[in-house]
Amino acid sequence: MKEVKSPKKPLIYYYLIVLLVILVFNMVSPLIANARVKEVDYGTFMRMIEEKNIDEVEVGDSQIVFTVKDSKQIYKTGAMTDPNLSERLYAAGATFSKEIERSTSPLLSFFLTFVLPILIFIALGQYMAKKMMSQEGGPNAMAFGMGKSNAKVYVPSTDGIRFSDVAGEDEAKESLAEIVDYLHNPKKYSDVGASMPKGVLLVGPPGTGKTMLAKAVAGEAGVPFFSMSGSEFVEMFVGMGASKVRDLFRQAKEKAPCIVFIDEIDAIGKKRDGQLGGNDEREQTLNQLLTEMDGFEGNNGVIILAATNRPESLDPALTRPGRFDRRVPVELPDLAGREAILRVHAKKIKTADNVDFHTIARMAAGTSGAELANIINEAALRAVRSGRTVVEEADLEESIEVVIAGYQKKNAIMTDAEKRVVSYHEIGHALVAAMQSGSAPVQKITIIPRTSGALGYTMQVEENDKVLLTKEELENKIATLTGGRAAEEVVFGQVTTGASNDIEQATRLARAMVTRYGMTDEFDMVAMETVTNQYLGGDTSLSCSADTQKEIDRKVVATVKEQHEKARRILTENRGKLDELANYLYEKETITGSEFMKILKGEETV
Ligand code: ADP
Ligand code: ZN
Repeated sequence: MKEVKSPKKPLIYYYLIVLLVILVFNMVSPLIANARVKEVDYGTFMRMIEEKNIDEVEVGDSQIVFTVKDSKQIYKTGAMTDPNLSERLYAAGATFSKEIERSTSPLLSFFLTFVLPILIFIALGQYMAKKMMSQEGGPNAMAFGMGKSNAKVYVPSTDGIRFSDVAGEDEAKESLAEIVDYLHNPKKYSDVGASMPKGVLLVGPPGTGKTMLAKAVAGEAGVPFFSMSGSEFVEMFVGMGASKVRDLFRQAKEKAPCIVFIDEIDAIGKKRDGQLGGNDEREQTLNQLLTEMDGFEGNNGVIILAATNRPESLDPALTRPGRFDRRVPVELPDLAGREAILRVHAKKIKTADNVDFHTIARMAAGTSGAELANIINEAALRAVRSGRTVVEEADLEESIEVVIAGYQKKNAIMTDAEKRVVSYHEIGHALVAAMQSGSAPVQKITIIPRTSGALGYTMQVEENDKVLLTKEELENKIATLTGGRAAEEVVFGQVTTGASNDIEQATRLARAMVTRYGMTDEFDMVAMETVTNQYLGGDTSLSCSADTQKEIDRKVVATVKEQHEKARRILTENRGKLDELANYLYEKETITGSEFMKILKGEETV
């Protein structure tokens, strides 16, 4: 009951309730009193005087209130000009009083206006307090508990998530395994005097399994798991978030050892910049979190895991030693990781025996775990749609394309001429790629429009994940991107809007070469741009003078132009193959990489 004595909820609510109750009673009590007053006409009043029945009388300006003998009934009548009234009243033996007590007894009135409201207020307070106490740890928190943390408790269960469910991410699992070990056997650590980090920050792009890892730590250690999203702390009222934080930590301490997981911690943990009009509520919440983390000693069994994909925006106070002092990167999976993730999720569906997950993983370069899970599910849906009972490799390939480019637009209307232009455009990409050394092999070319707006696309798949790219490889990539437009120019002598996405990508690459990779002579190894959020699209911000910006722009244009010319040259030199391949694609609409290579090589051998 301590919480009742030191209410943690803003007092204003209690005051508001008291005010309301008093108001209601002030309105109601006169009504109660009035209900006892009976209105009569002046004649009745005069008759009662004559019958000497009148007991007490109060004469006002507009009305006369009186009582009769042997009755508690109060009467009321309008006042009339009656100069002899007082004499007649005197003769009738009535008592003149200033005012008649309208309620039965002063005691009751006192009770109604003062004691009852207070009693009701106390009862309400007790009720609210009880409600809050009873919610503690309850899985279904109710809306009534204002400032109440809605942390969900996951009772450890045998079918909880384990490390084996999280595929890949071996480095992350390794550093979290220590925490699991600590939760199993804290004595081992305290004997040496080692204390566990209080907080561990899981950092990485969305959908890479951060939440899963946190759950797996709890699952492996067999301890309760509290989870809450950072945005849930930020409430409309100032002070609510802070009280939620207090509440969460109180619950956690009661259930220790346990894991507290705060998802999207950047929602509360953003740098406090001290600007006017800053978010007060967020800062208070953050301060409370910092205080709570300082408050509990190490080794008390509460480990806080938090996830974010914007680590650079976090307040330094949050990441200093003693708080979230360990940072575990959870990056996008590599080739082996992707394959493992595909296999984990494929266990949930029925797959044909001959599915080559390695190829699928290669095709799905750059995807996150969540996207891979989605690919598997899309494939299963596709299998059902086409009336099959097992998922085949073609389903998986198609669903990768769905994730990359959207669904096929079955009834999109393309004129013949347009189809021909798109064929040349796509073959242009593929041919330029194939004619340069070191380009990723072409996997598939298609001119079936997609819901994403792509009219066709050329899919290139690397043998292995590339970590480093040379300047030449980057230039070749740009040349490949310009290949589509170059084919249109070479063949039709005019250009279309179909190249807008290529232009965007080519520009981005060229720009990065100039501003971030130091691949020009002029700027040497000087960073002209900095990446602001590496895990969310990698936006950049320029950090150079206006003059340099001009120079950068010029350099970017020159880089793209050079590659565009190279692409045009390649296509002009191979005009025969370009025509043959484009015609073939026009007929077939979709061709595989090996078909493409066969035609390409066949020409060569002839
Ligand atoms: P995050 O918290 O990093 O945004 P989640 O942990 O919520 O991502 O992952 C979302 C979903 O993606 C999971 O439910 C799971 O199905 C899938 N997933 C992500 N990473 C992996 C992985 N390494 N192994 C297996 N499944 C994964
Ligand atoms: Zn293109």
